[in-house]
Amino acid sequence: MRTHFDVLIIGGSYAGLSAAMVLGRSLRHTLIIDGGDPCNKRTPHAHNFITQDGDPPLEIAARAREQVLAYAHVSRIEDQATELRGADGAFTVSTAAGTSYTARKVVFATGLHDGLPDIPGVLECWGKTVIHCPYCHGYEYRSEPTGLLLNNDHVPFMTRLIGNLTDELTLFTNGPATFDVAEIEARGVGVLQEPIRELEHDGGDLRAVCLADGTAVPLTALYLHPHLSQKCPLPEAIGCTLNEDGFLQVDDYGLTTVPGIYAAGDCTTMLRSVAYATGSGNKVGAMVNAGLLL
Ligand SMILES: Cc1cc2nc3c(=O)[nH]c(=O)nc-3n(C[C@H](O)[C@H](O)[C@H](O)COP(=O)(O)OP(=O)(O)OC[C@H]3O[C@@H](n4cnc5c(N)ncnc54)[C@H](O)[C@@H]3O)c2cc1C
Repeated sequence: MRTHFDVLIIGGSYAGLSAAMVLGRSLRHTLIIDGGDPCNKRTPHAHNFITQDGDPPLEIAARAREQVLAYAHVSRIEDQATELRGADGAFTVSTAAGTSYTARKVVFATGLHDGLPDIPGVLECWGKTVIHCPYCHGYEYRSEPTGLLLNNDHVPFMTRLIGNLTDELTLFTNGPATFDVAEIEARGVGVLQEPIRELEHDGGDLRAVCLADGTAVPLTALYLHPHLSQKCPLPEAIGCTLNEDGFLQVDDYGLTTVPGIYAAGDCTTMLRSVAYATGSGNKVGAMVNAGLLL
């Protein structure tokens, strides 16, 4: 296998594969290095992605891989990129398997890490009945008894957003509320400030939120906001700037603050969706190809 490429794409999920398709169709020798750990891997069904609405996310990714790797100029390895050095026109990446590859341009499509609260049951339910996004999963739980675990300035907006999908919404603050409780309760949303002891579930199907005082609140789904951080430390290590929200700073062309290094998908934005990741990868693929012409 060759070790020098036009483009290295680190992260081979929706954003990385989408960029690779554009580059393969542009006859650019492209290597995808993918750790195989997409953020939605625990979710049984991905929604809100036209043509594949409701399909298992890993099946969507597998079909994408098949189509992208049909292009002769694109290769993929399952490995972890551990170091990136060099500069525009001459980058070198090392991997956990002990191999090095060189390329003229680099794309980070490395996604985000979801930091979950340390509450028993959350991890088992994550992506299935403990969810983060009303657009991805809210319709499936419309009109169901639903919880929201949140205690910050976003409470008024989030209770309205989820309250649009169900009248049976309970807000859990897991400690003393930091907002105007009366305002939220006036809209028919129950507010419970007692600490959460655990989630009762059956193989990831949420049954109830159990509070420290012994109360069990029966629920079908619980929304929460994970603590987001970059999944991959390499962009920061080579000097890419993160914006104040912790996403990779990119310009309108997907170029980071380091010449020759582009980024696409979740690692660049709070607008997390398969459609957005795919769209931004598509754009970045074209911009990298344009950059290679200069
Ligand atoms: C639980 C959950 C459910 C979701 N449900 C939906 C849904 O129903 N519909 C929807 O539209 N969106 C959904 N999303 C959002 C959607 O999954 C993301 O927006 C999308 O996966 C982002 O794609 P990405 O390619 O940017 O990153 P990811 O899909 O997270 O992939 C990043 C890839 O980079 C790889 N990587 C990272 N670092 C390295 C490294 N150093 N070396 C090699 N590889 C590396 C990882 O292994 C991974 O394969 C959901 C998200 C979550 C967390």
